[in-house]
Amino acid sequence: MPLNHFHTGRQTPIIAGPGSLEQLPELRHRLGASRYMVISDQGLAATGLVDALVDNLTADAEVDTFLAPTGEPSVATADAAAAEVRALPGRPLVIGLGGGTALDIAKLVAALAESQGDMENYLLARTPWSGRVPAVMVPTTSGTGSEVTRTSILTDAEGRKLWAWGDELLPDAVLLDPVLTRGLPAPLTATTGLDAFVHALEATTGQGRHTFIEAPALQAIRQVGETLPMAVTNPHDLVARQRMQEAACLAGQAIDNGGTGIAHNIGHALGSCYHLPHGVAVTLALEASLAWSVADNEACFAPAAHALKAGSKAQELPRLFRELADQTHFNQALAPFTTQTLDAEALALTMQKDENAPMAHNAARRPTGEDWQWLADATVSVFERRVAELATQNREISA
Ligand SMILES: [Zn+2]
Repeated sequence: MPLNHFHTGRQTPIIAGPGSLEQLPELRHRLGASRYMVISDQGLAATGLVDALVDNLTADAEVDTFLAPTGEPSVATADAAAAEVRALPGRPLVIGLGGGTALDIAKLVAALAESQGDMENYLLARTPWSGRVPAVMVPTTSGTGSEVTRTSILTDAEGRKLWAWGDELLPDAVLLDPVLTRGLPAPLTATTGLDAFVHALEATTGQGRHTFIEAPALQAIRQVGETLPMAVTNPHDLVARQRMQEAACLAGQAIDNGGTGIAHNIGHALGSCYHLPHGVAVTLALEASLAWSVADNEACFAPAAHALKAGSKAQELPRLFRELADQTHFNQALAPFTTQTLDAEALALTMQKDENAPMAHNAARRPTGEDWQWLADATVSVFERRVAELATQNREISA
């Protein structure tokens, strides 16, 4: 690797291990907060995890909760949650509890509560934040890495996927308690874990890559390859669950410094056009684009191939990733979307929009000219092939 210049972002302290959730009262005290504001989503509330946390915290201080609607976080939801936090008497500790949606909103709300105006002002880093109230992130999925990144993704009123950024979006601490992920259904375990893999791969092969991105990213790739199939098959395997939490967090640190690439460009376009869940979208997109990215770029992808399976070459990476997705029964995660028809031309146009440009620009191989349509066609083909495979698999099960 040639000599290069880089600087890394701040890193949030991580408190990990079964039962680490019990450290919240001590953190509240240390951070000078007088009460709690738990920000989660309606899907997680239905599992009872939110009530269990609120019951535990009530013995220590007053607790308010905000439950975001299930699905992508929106500008309107961030504003609504921030209004509730601003109206609280006393300084709250904001606790983000959940997957990407809850964490992205909790991060925004902690910053919005100490900044002027509404969410619109801060989209695409238009205005710097003025500060934030104390915040701790508690992920209940192992994929997004949002708990350690300075970015939140959210949709506006037109359904466009936009982002906000700033040091203020980093929390004071991250709690990784693997007990919280034991109840995560298999398709979600699979797709969130595959998203973590895509983060690590795109950060470590991106245009901005350097040593301090490669170290966490390659370890994340190793841990996802070794433990994601186990976490899907044995949901109560706490060792596999903790390794996946660590992998997602390491991959989050890698994208915070290295950014993502073409699979996230395509994945965000799929999210904007068809509302496919993020992990589903980026898995389809990586499968469609990986051989194209690796072509004439083998040296860049070689360390990742070796991390996924010792001794493997870069050219084997597309097959190894497809096998990893199959081992996690990825097709089952497509079941709710099999009636969708994807339009490759619309997809190619959305991939080229401004809000998706940074990901294409950072990609290991940057698309030009005909590449956009080729990549969109390839993505639609992977989706259609996997939907057909799922139909066959379901017929075999019922036969
Ligand atoms: Zn992602």
